[in-house]
Amino acid sequence: MAFDFPFVKEALTQMFKKSSCEEYPFKPKEAFPNYRGRIVFHGDRCIKCGLCEKVCAGGAIHNVLISEDEEKEVYERTFDLTSCTFCSYCSDFCSKSAIELTGDFHMTGTKHEDLLVKGQYTKVKKKPVAKAAPAAKAESCDNKAE
Ligand code: SF4
Ligand code: SF4
Repeated sequence: MAFDFPFVKEALTQMFKKSSCEEYPFKPKEAFPNYRGRIVFHGDRCIKCGLCEKVCAGGAIHNVLISEDEEKEVYERTFDLTSCTFCSYCSDFCSKSAIELTGDFHMTGTKHEDLLVKGQYTKVKKKPVAKAAPAAKAESCDNKAE
């Protein structure tokens, strides 16, 4: 009695074929163009306009004052990638290109801090404007006539 096992032939054929799967992570993989991945903040370009926070629907951008002296305040800005929807609004609205959504898609971690992107920016304090001395009273017409 002859047995027919067609799947055995197929299994043996596939066993020696090149895999059709991506060999990631053994072979690095680039993101597609315009992929919106991990955020990078360039604090030195920031002009403190606050627009990025206003347009962030995810409420993912937070600022904390970390130091202060008579001339300036230094803030730490955090982008919480666990709240971020990667909409890119913050980056699109930033006129100084201080926020970048990169092609880095490796966004995993074992703790919350692994998914926080931090950067610092400095706010120069405005110096109080000295009040101008009151203008000297103009001489009266009577005095001029004398
Ligand atoms: S990162 Fe850009 S949008 Fe946000 S406060 Fe700075 S300059 Fe303004
Ligand atoms: S990409 Fe969108 S959700 Fe994420 S921080 Fe920017 S504005 Fe907020």
